[in-house]
Amino acid sequence: MGEQVGILVDGPHPAVMGTYQRTNIMFERGEGAWLITKSGDRYLDFTSGVAVNTFGHADYDLAKVLSDQAHKLWHTSNLYRVEDQERLAKLLCKHSFAESVFFCNSGAEACECAVKLARRYHFENGAPQRNRIITFEGSFHGRTLAMIATGGNPKYTNGFAPNVPGFDIVPFARHDIVKSVISDETAAVMIEPVMGEGGIRVIPKQCLRGLRELCDANGLLLILDEVQTGAGRSGRLFAHEWVEIQPDVMAVAKGIGGGFPIGAVMATADAAKGMVPGTHGSTFGGNPLATAVGCAVVEKLMAPEFLKDVCRKGVLLKQLLVDLKSRFPCIVEEVRGLGLLTGVKLKISVADAVRACFYEKLLTVSAGDNVMRLIPPLNVTDVEISDAAGRLDRAFARIVSHRLPRK
Ligand code: PLP
Repeated sequence: MGEQVGILVDGPHPAVMGTYQRTNIMFERGEGAWLITKSGDRYLDFTSGVAVNTFGHADYDLAKVLSDQAHKLWHTSNLYRVEDQERLAKLLCKHSFAESVFFCNSGAEACECAVKLARRYHFENGAPQRNRIITFEGSFHGRTLAMIATGGNPKYTNGFAPNVPGFDIVPFARHDIVKSVISDETAAVMIEPVMGEGGIRVIPKQCLRGLRELCDANGLLLILDEVQTGAGRSGRLFAHEWVEIQPDVMAVAKGIGGGFPIGAVMATADAAKGMVPGTHGSTFGGNPLATAVGCAVVEKLMAPEFLKDVCRKGVLLKQLLVDLKSRFPCIVEEVRGLGLLTGVKLKISVADAVRACFYEKLLTVSAGDNVMRLIPPLNVTDVEISDAAGRLDRAFARIVSHRLPRK
């Protein structure tokens, strides 16, 4: 198929609302780190469905759990107890700071619930005026009306006025400014340990520790958004473990379901104390199918040595990318990230780089700050990592020699 494939910006059938600029290709099936078209073309997937397919495509164990569950029970709503929901909540608590978990279906919902939880916490403490949340420029917490208001990015807010109030947006790594906006109306600080959509910007350890201290000193809740960084992507189950701090509240989604939609808000019992019956809910949240898969994902992540190997593979990928940087200094500005959450900041257009990779049948995804993300499944092999580096090399050579076909 090679260069005949008419890629990029062709819309899908008009029956699908045109909110995405999609690449004009469809995949029929997947195997681990590979996506395969009907005609048998194989693409090396270093997007993992935007940090979702933790164990790649059609993982045998996850598929079995899902299919076994599908033959028993799909959905009962939260009118009744759900066995695997309780099992997944216990597993998540066992392996984290959390003592209480609420299940939903996506990252935006999890972040939104985290904000509600923080407001409710202060309400419960007799301080309902404490409802403002400090958030950071360049952050991304999802596409609900409230969550688009958290980053102040016109790309997400244009045309959706009025903006939801209650967020004080500050630049990151500016402790002095965070301090100056804290008032007796502040409820919480919300931040991603690594800004994913914002361009794989790793928040320095001292910043996160400083935020923890500021929250403690001012009675605020620290909310971490680990929607993209969680589920082992950083080489730890949750990225904040690298910093040795604990949040009060954390939003997770994406990789925790390995491809099955699930989100969760994890919190200390104290932070969650206001979330009593009637305060929040979700029809689908934590249903038997989703939580059966979620349990299997967490169990596989916590298997001995698995996360250690993610760290090792993260280092391998980074080394190969740093080599590429020295071979293509006119293209690569910086290599950054944590574990297998990798970003390559480019000196050329990220869209061109993603397109050049596509021609080499390597799937990558752009992020803010002109960064190309490389986020393979966590069970990617060393051979596949080397293969991806080879494809990147050829893609960059194509760009340098002006052999990148027009869109
Ligand atoms: N938070 C972070 C850090 C994310 O990266 C994303 C999605 O990219 C979200 C929240 C929103 O997640 P979802 O698209 O599942 O609503």
